[in-house]
Amino acid sequence: MSISRRTFLHLPGVAAAVSAASIPHPPQAHPHRAGPIAIASGNGIRGVEQAYRMMTEEEADPLDAAIAGVKIQELDPTDQSVGLGGLPDERGVVTLDASLMHGPTRRAGAVAALEDIATPSLVAKAVMDYTDHVILVGKGARDFAIRMGFKPQNLLTEQSRKDWLAWKTSLNADDNWLEWPEAAAKHTDGTIHMSAVTAGGDIASVTTTSGLAWKIPGRIGDSPIVGAGQYCDNTVGSAGATGRGEAAIQSCGSFLAVEFMRQGYAPEDACLEVLRRVVAMTEDRLLDEQGRPRFGLSFYAVHKDGRYGAATMYEGPDFAIASADGVRHEPMAFLFSNE
Ligand code: ASP
Repeated sequence: MSISRRTFLHLPGVAAAVSAASIPHPPQAHPHRAGPIAIASGNGIRGVEQAYRMMTEEEADPLDAAIAGVKIQELDPTDQSVGLGGLPDERGVVTLDASLMHGPTRRAGAVAALEDIATPSLVAKAVMDYTDHVILVGKGARDFAIRMGFKPQNLLTEQSRKDWLAWKTSLNADDNWLEWPEAAAKHTDGTIHMSAVTAGGDIASVTTTSGLAWKIPGRIGDSPIVGAGQYCDNTVGSAGATGRGEAAIQSCGSFLAVEFMRQGYAPEDACLEVLRRVVAMTEDRLLDEQGRPRFGLSFYAVHKDGRYGAATMYEGPDFAIASADGVRHEPMAFLFSNE
């Protein structure tokens, strides 16, 4: 196998070791770049196909490709976890969160609690491209989006309105925000994350969501927070999260997954290690009798060299992947089986 000095110096950990000691290391096990590759939460199967196609056929920028992928879900009224048709907050208002990072230029953008604009990922990109800020929230984010030419629209579909009404009618005077009735919690979560790596090894990540259904107005999750809902470093790889946002925030989960890859963990192992950290940091009221979290959380990771993996708290979900091996769902590694 031949390997250029340039490729060699870009292998994980090699540049630092070379500059520290001027002793060349042998090439590591994954010297080739297997991009383009796009990885996403399970609902992103159409999205990874789109992103992969753009990166292979049009040599698209990885962030443009990833945004085009997640935008399919944002504009799909039947996906009640993202964009148009997302489940609303306790007032019945749909508020959206998104963040993204562009590895090659080391930039980030985000919006949180954004109303009336179906594509928060594109607004986050506008924050990144046209401002000196990283996050805009609430009314400021909405005003900014409109100034940038985004068209406001009603995001509450008839189905989501009916689900919200069903939840409201199931509330009673004894409920509090820590103990909502199980029956009222239809499917209150969901999100799309996508990470993309080009053939040249450039990386981008994006996560977009309508957040937790029936949330207290003003609540934002991990999705709009760089390092929690997604993170990428063009020298290492990218990661993102779906599931209980509070846990991804408290663990800086996506950042941590990338850091574990930097330390040499394979992507799947990096995701599992983050989940173990989450469990260790979870407060008692959220743990069952066996010490297992009473919530779901998933991480997705891709290394610059094309390796990828995903892991989830409880056995079950698949993730979506598009690469030279095709467009497919694959099962996620998990910490706990469902028995
Ligand atoms: N992570 C999202 C949030 O907490 C929700 C989800 O992915 O289920 O807002």
